[in-house]
Amino acid sequence: MKLATKILWALVIGAVVGIVLNMASPSFFTQADTYFFTPLGTIFLNLIKMLIVPLVFFSLVVGVANIGDPKALGRMGVKAMTFFLITTAIAISIGITLAVTFQPGNKGEFDVDTVNYEAAEAPPVSDTLLGIIPVNPIQAMASGDMLQIIFFAVFIGLGISYLAGKVDVVHRFMEQGNELMMFLVTLVMKFAPYGTFALIASAVGKQGFDALQAMFWYMMVVFLALFVHFIIVYGSALKFLAKRNPIEVMKAYIPALTVAFSTSSSSATLPVSMDVAQNKLGVPKGISSFVQPLGATVNMDGTAIMQGVATIFIAQVYGVDLSFSQMLIVVLTAVLASVGTAAVPGAGMIMLAMVLESVGLPVEGIALIIGIDRLLDMTRTMVNCFGDLTCALYVTESEKDKQKEAVAQ
Ligand code: ASP
Repeated sequence: MKLATKILWALVIGAVVGIVLNMASPSFFTQADTYFFTPLGTIFLNLIKMLIVPLVFFSLVVGVANIGDPKALGRMGVKAMTFFLITTAIAISIGITLAVTFQPGNKGEFDVDTVNYEAAEAPPVSDTLLGIIPVNPIQAMASGDMLQIIFFAVFIGLGISYLAGKVDVVHRFMEQGNELMMFLVTLVMKFAPYGTFALIASAVGKQGFDALQAMFWYMMVVFLALFVHFIIVYGSALKFLAKRNPIEVMKAYIPALTVAFSTSSSSATLPVSMDVAQNKLGVPKGISSFVQPLGATVNMDGTAIMQGVATIFIAQVYGVDLSFSQMLIVVLTAVLASVGTAAVPGAGMIMLAMVLESVGLPVEGIALIIGIDRLLDMTRTMVNCFGDLTCALYVTESEKDKQKEAVAQ
């Protein structure tokens, strides 16, 4: 059986086991979760997280050293950021439009008097931007600060390319380090069926079904918006901008999608996501290892969709009518917040709190949706990761043209 098929089966079996155990005996499920599902899931999660920092570092250094042109890098950065910002704005607009159309907040009774939610503080955007330069690169790696690691790796890569011939040993070391890490990703992925089974059984079993029922319409609207964005926006971007067959790309990306779904973490998905991009879809190392980690930190279209729907949902539950200009403020704030809150764990909820505050909606409303958020988080993380891949494929295609132009001149 192919690995992707095995993982898909593991997801289905994990979900069934989680639901059945929880329905049969919640206390038995709790025991099984504490002593079996959570530890097994954590082993997989940690194995894959172990590879993120060295993989991104080696791969980006090698990629940048091969490109060797700061101008090309700047151009790629601008293209990627433009793509990220535009798709995020589209994503949140889809979320808002569908929520206004289907009105999930007006379907059902929601008790808003007893809810309570403490929003975590988001760091100021200036901190995030200034913080990109690592004062201590080793510390950046130790704490897994992705933007700082990217910054340092780009410098080392450029240095290697300028000093061509003088630092061959370092260059070779980086290349071999990259090859080794890619091999380890393949190795760790052999454990993926067991890991995803355990993560899903744990997540699904812990889900309260009463909450699911109450929030049915909200969840359906989020799923629908995610689906529309995935198929239509990414499908068209792949076809028209990246000049790829969307079905083939989606098929090749299945292993990464399953990891995104089971871990709910874009950064934990990075190793397998970069592996697919570089080894199955022909994205050059320099582009994949630059665009994908950057995207994992600053580009979250799935999260933006949830924010769009959640904002309208909360407004409907509290009986607040948002004007068109307020909806525009929501789009703008969410797009800025998605860049500003980079690399903060639980980014989605911090961003949502900022969006709600921007139009004066009660932040406590988040308490209504937080209980069922894990299931949505799993689904939107797939969209987040796929957006980064789509961008990497678009940059690959557009840089091809640049190379052709350079040869023609
Ligand atoms: N779990 C999402 C991700 O890592 C972020 C979020 O929506 O909170 O992509």
